[in-house]
Order: sequence, then C-alpha cells, then structure tokens
Amino acid sequence: MLSQYGLMAFLKAFKKSEPQFKNEEFFHDYAVAGYSHCCDWLGKPPDPEWTFKLIPWHRSMCARDSLNHRYLLMICDSDGSEAICRRIGHEMYHRVTWRRSGLRSQLWTNEMLACAVSDHIMNLHGMENYVHAAEQVCVSSNKLDTVRLRNIHSPRRLGEITRTSTSYPQDFGRDLIRLANALMALCGWESFVALGTKPTLADWMCEMSPQLQHAVNAVLGFEEPKMELISADLEAQFLHYKTFGRALYWIGEFHYAVEGLQIARDRRPSDAETHLYLANALWYANRRQEAMHTLRRGLKIVPSSQEMQHTLNDYARGDGDI
Ligand SMILES: [Zn+2]
Repeated sequence: MLSQYGLMAFLKAFKKSEPQFKNEEFFHDYAVAGYSHCCDWLGKPPDPEWTFKLIPWHRSMCARDSLNHRYLLMICDSDGSEAICRRIGHEMYHRVTWRRSGLRSQLWTNEMLACAVSDHIMNLHGMENYVHAAEQVCVSSNKLDTVRLRNIHSPRRLGEITRTSTSYPQDFGRDLIRLANALMALCGWESFVALGTKPTLADWMCEMSPQLQHAVNAVLGFEEPKMELISADLEAQFLHYKTFGRALYWIGEFHYAVEGLQIARDRRPSDAETHLYLANALWYANRRQEAMHTLRRGLKIVPSSQEMQHTLNDYARGDGDI
C-alpha cells in the first residue's frame, strides 16, 4: 500500500509518464484473470469501476490513485515472468481487498492471504512447479513463532516510496508462507481463503469441528498440540492426523509432526503420501535413518514416485539439510 504523499512523489518522479512491461499484453491478461479469481474467492471490491494499471518498478506495491480512479500495481520487473506473475497476483489481492475491514486489516492475515492467493492463481495457470519449488525453499528447521508473527505491525511510513528495501522483518514472507501452508493443510483452500472475508478468527473457526479447531489453535500458537484419538473411526483418525501432522511439519514442530503422521501411517499403511510426509518430518527431527527407511517403505507402495526417489537420493547424500 502507498500513501497519497508517496503516490504524488511517485508521479512527480516519473513526470506522469508510465513505463510498460515488454510483455505488457501477457501480464495484463494475467492480472485480469487474477482480479477475477480474487473476486470469486473474496467477493467484489466496493469500487469495481476503478481500473488498474501495471507499472514496472524497482519494488512491488499497490497504490490507490484517487485522481484517476484507478489502482497502480507497481511490480518489481526482475527474475523472469513467473516471479513477475507472482508479484502481480499478490498486488492484485491488495487491490481487491484494499477497502475491506475485518481480519484482513491485521498485517499477518493480510500479507499471508496475499502470498497464498498469488500462489493459488499461479497453480491454476500452469505454474505449480514454480510454486512448489518456492514453497520448498520456505521449509525451515526453526520452530515458527506464530505469536510473534501475529504481533508484527506494518512499519510503513509516509514517504517510504523513496526507499529501496522492504521494512518487514527478515523471514517475514517465508514465515507467512509456512503458516499459510500449515493452515491450508488443515482446512483446504476454500475454507482457508474465507479468512479474508471474516471479521474475527472466532467467526472463521466457529463452524469447524472441535478437533479441527484444536489443530488450528495449535498452529496459531494458542494451544499446545495434543495427539488424542478423536474417534473410534480409523478413517477419521487417518484423515485428521495426516493433515495435522503435515501442518505441524510446516511450522517446524517436528516432534509433534512425527507423532501425528505415525498415527496416520498406522491407520492407513497403504498411503504413500503419508510415508513421504513422515519421512520429511523424521529428517528434520534428526531421525535420519528412520526417515530413509520410511521413504523406502513408501517406494514399495508407489515405486514410480519420483518425488520420493529424489528425496531419498537427497537424504542419502545428506542434502536434506537447510
Ligand atoms: Zn503485500
């Protein structure tokens, strides 16, 4: 977001000329598709008649140009078209939700949703390999401090437009993606993105089952994770602990993640994906021989799994370290 002061400085600096991307048509079409997705997931903005303009710049931000009734999506023009698409999706989220109140007005929710929405748009437009690789870079052996993350406030000041570097804490973006992936593992996309339409966390969670509420509270740092058997139904236990274990993996709670994923594996030993998730959690819990043993068991279930074979090769070389 950009203040009116910053916007005027920007326009003055460029003498009201507006540079274009070399591949303007492609990026414009992508931005239009992104606008449509954002409206589907988050509802239409209260000012749908306002247009938008993509402007290549040295950093990315969204600004409201009230003189011309439009939004300026200033996009860092570097690192290739996929990185640019990722930034366009992010800033388009800010355009669509700019005037929305509620949970979105909290920095962590707002920026987490912007990152997740952007990646989901890319997934829908054939760039899932890029997103997957970018997410893997975010895996960290450190435990995510979700309480600290939720208490970070926007550092932006009037005139910040003249600065070249972001003012957010180091690893802010990486931690938001870890938290988003944990919550998406638990809730699925539709329920996750509904966060952006609710006034409070309580409103978002009120229709969840008690066990899902506990898992979400554990991920957000409100409760210590509990590995209790939720019902006598083995399938229900499998589904709950596969997603809970995966969510705990994303926030770096590897001890609990192993515990949950072992329950899931024992309830349905034929599920190869659970073996992969469990192997990853074991590796970061420093139980490396067990991690490789678990991958070999998973490969017996699905011998053609390239992801498991690549992971096993990496671990055998000791390349899984962060
Ligand atoms: Zn943002």
